[in-house]
Amino acid sequence: MTKKNYPNPVKLIKYYELINFNLIYNNKAINRYKKDNFEISSNKAENLEILKKSIQNIKNCDLKNNATNMVFSDGNPKSKIMLIGEAPGSNEDQEGLPFVGRAGVLLDKMLASINLDRKSVYISNVVNYRPPENRRPTEEEINRYLPFLKKHIQIINPKILILLGSSAMSAILGNEDVISKVRGKWIERNFGKSKISVIVTFHPAFLMRQPAQKKMAWIDLKMIRDKKTNLKI
Ligand code: URA
Repeated sequence: MTKKNYPNPVKLIKYYELINFNLIYNNKAINRYKKDNFEISSNKAENLEILKKSIQNIKNCDLKNNATNMVFSDGNPKSKIMLIGEAPGSNEDQEGLPFVGRAGVLLDKMLASINLDRKSVYISNVVNYRPPENRRPTEEEINRYLPFLKKHIQIINPKILILLGSSAMSAILGNEDVISKVRGKWIERNFGKSKISVIVTFHPAFLMRQPAQKKMAWIDLKMIRDKKTNLKI
């Protein structure tokens, strides 16, 4: 039997240290969107990574301190349709992804009813950490996360923005009206240099409590389907 000459691992590690070669990681951000087969420009991927890091770097925030994971987004960052929910719940906090619990199941059904799914839309929330006991985020918490959310919208640059529920509505539109008055209408809003068509509809968790309102949500979904066709998305 011929004896193979394997390099001595201790010497090899010393050698790598000497030439300053980092064995564990390099400094380039991992483009996880590529991994998910969403080929987005490296500029968009980089901006999303920077945004994610700045949210992770938030200091003195009780929401963050009490949460298990940050919930940043799900879906296709190339999509022209973006949805904003309220806040992660317990399942989302565990998994680090938005709308993975019961409300998420209904959201998926709502999307499927107009031929959409998680690969054709992009989803985030008003706040990125779970409020304790699933309470609604306070006005102060919403205002703290709002600059990040606005930046998120600018980076994704959707043509259609769907606000799920009154927290998303008041955060983005600054509207204090009841949601039943605001839903089901197109509102044009500028985000950075882009004009985006915004629509408010009921949050799926609300629809689970008030199933009679599903017929109104269906009207909104059909408006979204028609807008998508008109905008050739
Ligand atoms: N409700 C939300 O608003 N967002 C989630 O991610 C889950 C439930």
